[in-house]
Amino acid sequence: MNYQDIFNNRLDSLKSDGNYRVFAELERQMGNFPTAKWYKNDDKQSSIGEVTIWCSNDYLGQGQNPVVINAMKKALDRCGAGAGGTRNISGTNHYHVLLENELADLYQKQSALIFTSGYVANQTSLMTLGREISGIIMYSDSLNHNSMIEGIRQSGAIKRIFKHNDLVDLEDKLKADDINAPKLIVFESIYSMDGDIAPIKEMIGLAKKYNAMTFLDEVHAVGMYGDNGGGVAEREGLVDDIDIIQGTLGKAYGVLGGFIAANSEIIDFIRSFGAGFIFSTSMPPAIAAGALASVKYLRQHNEIRIKHQERAETLKARLNAANLPVMPSICHIVPLLVGDPVACKQASDMLMEKYNIYVQPINYPTVPKGSERLRLTPSPLHDDKAMDHLINALCDVWQELNLHRISS
Ligand code: PLP
Repeated sequence: MNYQDIFNNRLDSLKSDGNYRVFAELERQMGNFPTAKWYKNDDKQSSIGEVTIWCSNDYLGQGQNPVVINAMKKALDRCGAGAGGTRNISGTNHYHVLLENELADLYQKQSALIFTSGYVANQTSLMTLGREISGIIMYSDSLNHNSMIEGIRQSGAIKRIFKHNDLVDLEDKLKADDINAPKLIVFESIYSMDGDIAPIKEMIGLAKKYNAMTFLDEVHAVGMYGDNGGGVAEREGLVDDIDIIQGTLGKAYGVLGGFIAANSEIIDFIRSFGAGFIFSTSMPPAIAAGALASVKYLRQHNEIRIKHQERAETLKARLNAANLPVMPSICHIVPLLVGDPVACKQASDMLMEKYNIYVQPINYPTVPKGSERLRLTPSPLHDDKAMDHLINALCDVWQELNLHRISS
């Protein structure tokens, strides 16, 4: 058995398909978001440049907010580096409890539970519910994130995949199952690659009709939507009707971690049976303190959300005006269609090398083949000058690579 060949053959086919991931080595610069140093290391040379990041999920620049950073510094000075254990064995820090209380309060739910990432929050919660509730059927949107897919798969529960955001297909599937079987509908509010939004109200309607529970991933909405930054369900006044709301502390909140908020029985259940929660060291107290400060801050600063939406709308309008193929997003995510993996990587490389603009190419399997794209995420800190530069650079790249444009 030649193990090396096994690895190399798979990696070679990934490379020849244009789907091999190359990480940009960055050093974010405090107080200078969205600018970062770029450590360029290829076969030919090593150098350090400066780039503007146009694809960060630090959607609001909170990772650079002095309020968040000071809270982290203070907690670091008070508590030291790590949490010191799992939650059960010496690792429940006061900051964890404060953060969970804050998140429960944000959603006006009885309880909340934090995890080391949004991924772990989804995977552990769904795995636990699927494994521990006998006979449960899970209805999962076909475009759900890998963390939900894996959680459901690993739980061994019966699963039904419904067509993306398709209420008819979901209802057909619900209807076909035993009305008395326990059920969970699992979906996202904002789908981060297309920027479309689930019909949450109608999903809740179906859940009620067929006596199902709901699990809503608000990872790409928390901090950014609703008067308190709770997400799309908050904006639409639907939080009370969702059984389990899941989110991240690593994107708009700018730090790291994930959470769920729900009634106290559900939280206690996942706290008590969730392996990925029980058997893992809890997040460092300084991370919890930073996330706590960020959640509190964004509850009070609606003007950041307003500015964020304005930036996204302006960018979409400007891309359209330049006949660049912006996809029909209805939120802060601005995807630009390229439609070919090799060209997508080339476009991204050119933007970086020639224009100091960093946008990671998004290729299969993250998006379907033929819909490869550049996914732009303008923050409130991307000013008009940065946008002018981006549009000019994109026009040049589109022309040079002869990429598809929309006709005016
Ligand atoms: N859910 C969705 C929809 C995501 O897109 C992601 C990450 O991109 C996650 C969950 C995982 O969140 P985290 O990055 O906090 O692990």
